[in-house]
Amino acid sequence: MRLSRYFLPILKETPKEAEVISHRLMLRAGMIRQESAGIYAWLPLGHRVLDKVCDIIREEQSRAGAIELLMPTIQSADLWRESGRYDDYGKEMLRIKDRHERDMLFGPTNEEMITEIFRGSVRSYKQLPLNLYHIQWKFRDEVRPRFGVYRSREFLMKDAYSFDLDAEGARHAYNRMFVAYLRTYARMGLKAIPMQADTGPIGGDLSHEFIILASTGESQVFCHKDYLDFDTPAEDVNFEDRAELQVLVDRWTDLYAATEEKHDEAAFGALPEAEQLSARGIEVGHIFYFGTKYSAPMRAHVAGPNGQEVPVHMGSYGIGPSRLLAAIIEASHDDKGIIWPEAVAPYKVGLINLKRGDEATDTACEALYEKLSRAGVEVLYDDTDDRPGGKFATMDLIGLPWQLIVGPKGLADGTVELKHRSSGEREILSPDAAVVKLV
Ligand code: ATP
Ligand code: MG
Ligand code: MG
Ligand code: MG
Repeated sequence: MRLSRYFLPILKETPKEAEVISHRLMLRAGMIRQESAGIYAWLPLGHRVLDKVCDIIREEQSRAGAIELLMPTIQSADLWRESGRYDDYGKEMLRIKDRHERDMLFGPTNEEMITEIFRGSVRSYKQLPLNLYHIQWKFRDEVRPRFGVYRSREFLMKDAYSFDLDAEGARHAYNRMFVAYLRTYARMGLKAIPMQADTGPIGGDLSHEFIILASTGESQVFCHKDYLDFDTPAEDVNFEDRAELQVLVDRWTDLYAATEEKHDEAAFGALPEAEQLSARGIEVGHIFYFGTKYSAPMRAHVAGPNGQEVPVHMGSYGIGPSRLLAAIIEASHDDKGIIWPEAVAPYKVGLINLKRGDEATDTACEALYEKLSRAGVEVLYDDTDDRPGGKFATMDLIGLPWQLIVGPKGLADGTVELKHRSSGEREILSPDAAVVKLV
């Protein structure tokens, strides 16, 4: 992409209303724009990162056996009356009337709808296990939307729903998502710790929140320090093997880790002080096993092996991709701007033309842009006639992993400069060597 043709509305001033660094940087880097309180437009750069985050989520959901579909954002209130949650959900739910005076709502979550879809076509235990998920916009009329896309009113959620014949099967489904989540966050360069959590309005008794430690986090959390050094489950973990998954999950849950609502001061206090970690955290995911809470009242039954009809055991599994962008930036930035982990970076390379209009520089930049693009490397080429200082500042702000800097001086010696954003390391090398390094 040529910057001269792109839409990257960088802000020179730091917006006053933004209290946390991720919000400031996302506004300044032209990633998002607030359209009304807690409601954001995703500008091209932000949208690219959001897509990359969703791609990683999709790959890991699919590896764990979940199947993607897409449910609507607008739901009928009648569904929620069946489960009994329509009145319970309170003011966070945006309630809408259509022209026929029918009660509708903008979905804050989809347990009811997926249960309705399930009961419409699944009749037998032979069609189980089943895990269906979608990535769709949600609306929750938060009392206090703040911190940009960290706590917005409209936000993106990946929500998966599992269906099993019995509690044991549901436990396996839960463990699949548990392990998939660990892998998902790690691939984005994040260290997420699963913690015992409250189930809130979703209900149920087994639940973990995935927490990123950050001083700006809204939750107070308590855990064993060793979790910080745990390895991520490998790519080839066998999701069909119940015992193997249980061992993994046990390892990740044996030590103390709890959110404030589930905190047990006595158990935590019993740990040696050097092993206690009490910190602020960001909830980036939440998984629940709630048995027959929805399937029983909504009559989502299947025939078991003996022919008898039983309500299915369900779980739900949420990740907030839009909040994840804020969490990644909170975890990875410096005083110059964002430092994207390569897996989610909007572009891998920022190609900087230091002197547009200089024939040798333009030619060298065009050749590099061509070669890299043809090799499948995503390049944002700054071909504008801004001053070098401004170009460097923009590249540092938007945080692409590599900056390839091309100017007449270096070219006279046959060289260009390659800067690594996270380490700050710079290397002088030939244009061809730079291409080899970046491909
Ligand atoms: P919170 O405690 O932050 O209000 P929640 O517990 O209400 O979140 P869940 O119902 O567990 O949220 O939803 C699953 C995931 O959706 C959360 O872990 C989070 O990543 C994301 N999420 C929830 N609310 C918001 C929001 N207002 N803005 C952005 N992401 C959100
Ligand atoms: Mg909430
Ligand atoms: Mg919560
Ligand atoms: Mg939650």
